[in-house]
Amino acid sequence: PAGTLAATLERLDGAPYARYRSLTGRPWPLGGGTTASLRHGQADPFAPPSRWEVRCPRTPFAALALTTAVRRRALAGFLARSARSAAGPFRIDAGGQEVVQRSSCEVSADGSVVLRPAYALPGPRRRIDGHRAAADLAGTLPALVTEHVLGVDLEQARAFCDAVEDAAHLRSLLPGLGLVAFVADGAVLPRASGVDDRPLAGAVPFDSPPSLRVEVDLPHRGRTSGMGVPTGVTVLVGGGFHGKSTLLRALEAGVDDHVPGDGRDLVVTDPGAVAVRAEDGRAVTRVDVGAFVSGLPGGADPRDFTTADASGSTSQAAATVEALEAGARVLLLDEDTTATNLMVRDARMQELVAKSSEPLNPFVDLVRSLADDHAVSTVLVVGSSGDYLDVADRVLLLESYRCHDVTDRAREVARRPTGRVAEAGTFPAVRARVPDPAGVDATARGRRRVSAVGTDTLRLGEDDVDVRAVRQFTDPAQVTGAGLALDHAVAAGHLDGRRTLAEVLDRLEADLAGPTGGWTGGAAADVAVPRRHEVAAALNRLRSLRVLRLR
Ligand code: ADP
Ligand code: MG
Repeated sequence: PAGTLAATLERLDGAPYARYRSLTGRPWPLGGGTTASLRHGQADPFAPPSRWEVRCPRTPFAALALTTAVRRRALAGFLARSARSAAGPFRIDAGGQEVVQRSSCEVSADGSVVLRPAYALPGPRRRIDGHRAAADLAGTLPALVTEHVLGVDLEQARAFCDAVEDAAHLRSLLPGLGLVAFVADGAVLPRASGVDDRPLAGAVPFDSPPSLRVEVDLPHRGRTSGMGVPTGVTVLVGGGFHGKSTLLRALEAGVDDHVPGDGRDLVVTDPGAVAVRAEDGRAVTRVDVGAFVSGLPGGADPRDFTTADASGSTSQAAATVEALEAGARVLLLDEDTTATNLMVRDARMQELVAKSSEPLNPFVDLVRSLADDHAVSTVLVVGSSGDYLDVADRVLLLESYRCHDVTDRAREVARRPTGRVAEAGTFPAVRARVPDPAGVDATARGRRRVSAVGTDTLRLGEDDVDVRAVRQFTDPAQVTGAGLALDHAVAAGHLDGRRTLAEVLDRLEADLAGPTGGWTGGAAADVAVPRRHEVAAALNRLRSLRVLRLR
């Protein structure tokens, strides 16, 4: 039956390149019930590669008990990685170390599989190379599917699903245990390098401090011990190079599941955890930064703050408030990437510079209220400011990559007064924004433009959105996903000029939980599903963003 596609391609040999598109609109049998459809034919050989959709209704995977969305996502991740490793002229997006739902491979509860490879249709001198295309599409592709998708080792596939299911289960246990994160004993946190997200070889494995040790029962792995990071304010201290940022980064990454063997397999964080950092130069649109800023030069209202070029401190204030607006339950901050003047103002500076001439309220005076009045926890690295010892629920010391609970000693130290006075009491409820759908436009010169440049830039319509500071984007496909999610929010009427941003995200989240096809509009790109927080982060950095009202 594969002959039909092969015969058609042979017949098209030598025809003008554009005739490849005559292949669209029907499924081509590849044998064994599997079909391939051309979803996006490329216009010419230099355009982005064509997109194929391979459907495999008959698979052995129902035996893997694909009863939960987590197991289906895990199996899809496993199959995509297997297919990618042997893809030849086909490109199959499988992402990095995170196991995120993506359009390149999706699995249904009955075990059927959809694979969406990219393939550059061969066209020397803008003519169809029918022989080459037939060999690839009717020969290599079905073989790839048979061997590296349908023919994977079922026990390996099961182990992968089980591992991901354990991590997801562990994450779901966190609220009931009063935790915001869990770091398993034996976990490997550091990465091979700044550009290689695989585990660092020879690293010191994580070992939990006894006072924070928690034991949990996981469905597959069974009894597992590790450090539970309780809700509240947790401060990470320690000398330079002792592993503070590495631990914080692992917590940032813990909102996602990781491939078995990643080292962070059982490092999980509340899905509402958002990394916040300073990002001078970014745009801010009508954000209520009143908690952090009591007055602005020129008399602008800090509770309705807009700028095209934020400073370090105002950008961090805005990012914090935006995270809260989107529903963050945990804030993750690292002194390496925060604005010092928004984090601290010590006793001596209070003495020298009167509060009346300092419009900033430092985070150290707000972090308690976030925890106590808003149930928003914070984990922060501040090796340089002892003032945080006054407000911390617990203090963890990193020493030669070993984590110690030094809360009691920190209390002793904090007992001696510094003369510092708190400069803010409570963190006020933030004003909700109602975004204007007209400010979110994915079209540029009459065409849809949604793509990613690495994890640095989201191209959305006329806008190039700088998302470098949005650290929890897992890979470029997820940046594209955030752009498509925004486009969908407008198209589906979620973002309608009446709903607040949080309400828009609620609606959108329900759609994102379904098959990717429900909101990608059959995009000709690799798409991974983002969290609501990354969608919000992309929207917030859109320079065309308009906000109609504040509530
Ligand atoms: P800090 O933030 O305390 O200055 P980092 O987290 O940046 O320290 O870590 C400093 C270096 O130590 C990094 O190169 C990191 O990869 C490495 N590192 C961190 N944790 C470990 C570990 N458990 N084993 C080995 N190397 C580690
Ligand atoms: Mg650091």
